[in-house]
Amino acid sequence: MSHDDQDIAQIREAVAQVCADFPGEYWRELDAERRYPADFVKALTQAGFLGALIPEEYGGSGLGLTAACAILEEIQRAGCNGGACHAQMYTMGTLLRHGSAAQKAQWLPAVASGEIRLQAFGVTEPTSGTDTLSLRTTAVRDGSSYVVNGQKIWTSRAEHSDLMVLLARTTPKDQVAKRTDGLSVFLLDMREAVGQGLTIRPIRTMMNHATTEVFFDDVRVPAENLIGEEGKGFRYILDGMNSERTLIAAECIGDGRWFVEKASAYARERAVFGRPIGQNQGVQFPIARAYAQIEAANLMVTEAARKFDQGLSIGREANMAKLLASEASWAAAEACVQTFGGYGFAEEYDVERKFRENRLYQVAPVSTNLILSYLAEHVLKMPRSY
Ligand SMILES: Cc1cc2nc3c(=O)[nH]c(=O)nc-3n(C[C@H](O)[C@H](O)[C@H](O)COP(=O)(O)OP(=O)(O)OC[C@H]3O[C@@H](n4cnc5c(N)ncnc54)[C@H](O)[C@@H]3O)c2cc1C
Repeated sequence: MSHDDQDIAQIREAVAQVCADFPGEYWRELDAERRYPADFVKALTQAGFLGALIPEEYGGSGLGLTAACAILEEIQRAGCNGGACHAQMYTMGTLLRHGSAAQKAQWLPAVASGEIRLQAFGVTEPTSGTDTLSLRTTAVRDGSSYVVNGQKIWTSRAEHSDLMVLLARTTPKDQVAKRTDGLSVFLLDMREAVGQGLTIRPIRTMMNHATTEVFFDDVRVPAENLIGEEGKGFRYILDGMNSERTLIAAECIGDGRWFVEKASAYARERAVFGRPIGQNQGVQFPIARAYAQIEAANLMVTEAARKFDQGLSIGREANMAKLLASEASWAAAEACVQTFGGYGFAEEYDVERKFRENRLYQVAPVSTNLILSYLAEHVLKMPRSY
């Protein structure tokens, strides 16, 4: 085993130890009440896992995407839900790559220590959806600040985060030379903005995801909170999307492994007609097939993270990793519910909860169709379809 592999194995073990304190009962209770797993997030932060990608000079661990993927995969594999905090890993990348030295020095140490949370990412809007370039939230410069008006939807964790990475239009669409210009990224301090024009409304969803609608009514953001250059924000966000897709794919691998382990264990133990149900090929095969799909998808996740850590571009790999991992984990979820029969629907086995949680990843952060469009257009050079 190489040094790197040993380090990753140790990280996995340490994550598993933290997760052992947060068993199924913990998640079931929160799920029933749609409550945020504050203690879990605190434990992960204190153990340093949410600052994994923050450089050591800012108080983080300075690890790469491979390590971050291992952390999220282990969380899911242990039956926990990284959805409560995974965004801190990728939203922070925007600040890391495009923020000024002063912004990084101001925010990153506090994010690494857990003093402040950077877990909200405001991109999606109700009218534009996947068509990000048509978003309508505006930020207009006025003296030493920008004034923001508009609405975001599906802004997850906004109530449990101090900062939001916000994408807003600073130049009207019909006045830009290139269609990708005119959007800008801001670091919005929600602690100051709530009640000063910022309203957050929770959306109840099929799983416990703390997602919200956010309304901006003349919200002032200091001009020094603009990240990078005005008008170049879309590129900065796109830049971070490949690491986001890879991290989410790693979570799917963790989910898939949890489902396969649960299903095969249950199939070995549950006896019907005088023998274990797992002796029937009709029960074995969907689990074995899902297992093969997960292992194959994992190779793509590993490859995407490896190339990212070498500074290479990973549009192709990150998109394929997300596509394959979200579908493989869903196949495993299906096989697991089917194997559990009626018990797959009972809350106490956690299968139905994980089933609901896993379904999201074929839709968010990007839906399967849009990944296929990316591959068709950018990799296979077919005409753009939209
Ligand atoms: C629980 C949850 C949490 C989320 N968290 C966040 C968050 O924190 N921050 C954030 O910014 N967003 C977040 N999102 C939003 C998420 O990224 C979007 O829901 C997703 O990108 C799809 O956008 P949409 O819902 O507007 O669907 P639409 O864009 O309306 O698409 C609907 C369907 O049509 C398909 N479709 C659309 N256009 C095409 C096309 N040209 N070709 C083929 N098919 C097409 C899509 O694939 C999709 O299946 C979250 C969503 C959910 C449900």
